[in-house]
Amino acid sequence: MWVVVNAAVSVDGKLSSRRREQVRISGPDDFARVNRLRGLSDAVVVGIGTVVADDPHLTVDVEALPDWLGFTGQPVRVVVDSRARIPMDARVLDGAAETVVLVSESAPDDRVMALEAAGAGVIRRGTGRVDLCAGFGALAERGVERVMVEGGGTVIASLFEADLVDVLSVYVGSMVIGGETAPTLVDGPGFVEDYPRLSLESVARVDDGVLLQYARPRPG
Ligand code: NAP
Repeated sequence: MWVVVNAAVSVDGKLSSRRREQVRISGPDDFARVNRLRGLSDAVVVGIGTVVADDPHLTVDVEALPDWLGFTGQPVRVVVDSRARIPMDARVLDGAAETVVLVSESAPDDRVMALEAAGAGVIRRGTGRVDLCAGFGALAERGVERVMVEGGGTVIASLFEADLVDVLSVYVGSMVIGGETAPTLVDGPGFVEDYPRLSLESVARVDDGVLLQYARPRPG
């Protein structure tokens, strides 16, 4: 499995404002790049915090894809949601593409059944929060090889903790958001040692911002 984390941040590293609503950080060229990246993925993953805050659709705009991409179908939309608290009217549950909700043992059975009745797949891994290693392993068993993670900062933090990140693509937009409580690219408790190290692979100007691409070096 190959895991790419993609996100847009302000110059000061924020994913959004303290209100946690969606902020337009990037521009049209970066949206097109993100659409192509989705089109090359088998699954697109977000946390439940992002679904509640942004209600993303997570589908590929097929019309906007170039022919050379060889698009073969919408990626599976995956929501990391321990307690299955995803609203039943969330756009990711609209049936426009397959949706899988990764839940844990703490998800009430009636919520799980409601999701299945709505056509979503449910994978239960972990006791308190979702065990991301086991959850991604279950996705791999279903044939998912290329994963794109679109946030938010809490899920991205857990992915670094679990050492599941292969590539990090960060678009840094030319704006300041600020705020101590505004979500950042990597939230969670943070690291105090064994900081995940990345290797800078490319830097490019896109729209009025900068696209930074990092790889996670693996021993050997
Ligand atoms: P998030 O990372 O989308 O979701 C976090 C939630 O996922 C957790 O609170 C937890 O809720 C659930 N979860 C289940 N298992 C987990 C695990 N093992 N590790 C971590 N989380 C797990 O939410 P967020 O950090 O609040 O980020 C949302 C914010 O980011 C919004 O403001 C949104 O606008 C912004 N955002 C920005 C971008 C961008 O590119 N600029 C992209 C995405 C999101 P439970 O305990 O209930 O399961």
